[in-house]
Amino acid sequence: MESVGVAAATPPDAGPGPAWQSKCPWGTPNTTSISCSLADVMSEQLAKELQLEEENAAFPEVVAVAEGPFITGENIDTSSDLMLAQMLQMEFDREYDAQLRREEKKINGDSKVSISFENYRKVHPYDSDSSEDEVDWQDTRHDPYRADKPTTTPRRGFIGKGKDITTKHDEVVCGRKNTARMENFAPEFQVGDGIGMDLKLSNQVFNALKQHAYSEERRSARLHEKKEHSTAEKAVDPKTRLLLYKMVNAGMLETITGCISTGKESVVFHAYGGKSATEDKVIPPECAIKVFKTTLNEFKNRDKYIKDDYRFKDRFSKLNPRKIIRMWAEKEMHNLTRMQNAGIPCPQVVILKKHVLVMSFIGKDQIPAPKLKDVTLSSEDMKKAYYQTLSMMQQLYKECNLVHADLSEYNMLWHDGKVWLIDVSQSVEPTHPHGLEFLFRDCRNVAQFFQKGGVAEALNERELFNAVSGLNITADNEVDFQAEIEALEKMNEDHVQNHGKKLSTFSSDGDPPIYDE
Ligand code: ADP
Ligand code: MN
Repeated sequence: MESVGVAAATPPDAGPGPAWQSKCPWGTPNTTSISCSLADVMSEQLAKELQLEEENAAFPEVVAVAEGPFITGENIDTSSDLMLAQMLQMEFDREYDAQLRREEKKINGDSKVSISFENYRKVHPYDSDSSEDEVDWQDTRHDPYRADKPTTTPRRGFIGKGKDITTKHDEVVCGRKNTARMENFAPEFQVGDGIGMDLKLSNQVFNALKQHAYSEERRSARLHEKKEHSTAEKAVDPKTRLLLYKMVNAGMLETITGCISTGKESVVFHAYGGKSATEDKVIPPECAIKVFKTTLNEFKNRDKYIKDDYRFKDRFSKLNPRKIIRMWAEKEMHNLTRMQNAGIPCPQVVILKKHVLVMSFIGKDQIPAPKLKDVTLSSEDMKKAYYQTLSMMQQLYKECNLVHADLSEYNMLWHDGKVWLIDVSQSVEPTHPHGLEFLFRDCRNVAQFFQKGGVAEALNERELFNAVSGLNITADNEVDFQAEIEALEKMNEDHVQNHGKKLSTFSSDGDPPIYDE
């Protein structure tokens, strides 16, 4: 694929409004923009309910584009071309709109009567960057502690969410009431002067406006909701697409070729590295892009354990899911960096942008290195892999002060005759309240894999645990061993309670033996 991305993002020439439209190199996008300020709506569209209807109908279209066939798995090449084209179009539209705004300002000057070009805008605010990240999730979901029907004037003039929003208002019949209720739209939503007049908004118009106000204020949240109902799970949202596009446009990436993996919490893409260097780093020839998912399924699954618990109510209501997702990406970056510094074979971090982590690709010519579970190794290589894994686990614990916490043959790649560790967003320090349990689980996975793989020397999970942690837990059966681990964790927690800080490490009877081949 050529890097069409770079050239076409040139801003349009300054010129009179309507003339630009013909300059759009991609023709008219089907992301039909929706008129934006209510002032416009009041003056023009109130008389043209039909048009509103049309625009209403355009909503699904916008969504359809947002969920465009980025990577469908059927035709990866074409779809990534399409993705680039879409991103390009989005960037172009954005610049077009910026120019439109400048022009609008120029024409209107200080005049009291102003002309609006809003109808000519191409990018619906839903797609715009300005929505940034500050979406307070609590507002977009049912809060069990809040009364369903507010008794006083609600802060916002709508209730219900998603598809329910229209239905709930079908019972609202009084036009004046509708007009009055407009006051309750979010403060940023410009309702014009209509409120002082004796306007009777039909339900249809009111609902359309309401839906618009809703989308204006909740566009990010809306995106999540739509995504969750979408079958195109693998698609990335427009913002992510824009982030990726920007990386291509900046020359950091040459081409994004396709999807390597779709997991519960992330989607991983392959890309060829570009020429321009970031900060002090040279971009690797091939990169893996890990996009942490913003669909929040996981988040939703977790909240059921929290929301019913009164103690967590305050904290729960303050959680910002976007921040949490970025936190995962950030954590993975920091953990990879620690590992890199310790010399553990792992992807090298290239750059982190929001919830998108770019790292070096483990593999060659777009083919990712196989997972240990998928590769058939000679008994010699198997033994080599075992000793290497053992020593990596020790390094990870001692030098990086980390426990992988999801270590298994699924997250170890075989490449260049050695094992590479990946997927460390969930890795924690050993003194994490469950750190040692995680380590024990890792040890169980690793011990079982290599024992089944025929490595006679492989330590069992308890021996492995002691060898990695340097602890000397003597229990000779799983249950007692586990109990001792939990006792140690509890001791650490008590220490935190009493002294306000964690033990820096767990005490051990001396350094663990370093196992080398
Ligand atoms: P998940 O949380 O979805 O398991 P991973 O980080 O394990 O995320 O990535 C999923 C898959 O993507 C991996 O199993 C691996 O096949 C591939 N992958 C991830 N990172 C890389 C990389 N740097 N190089 C090559 N393949 C990678
Ligand atoms: Mn994984």
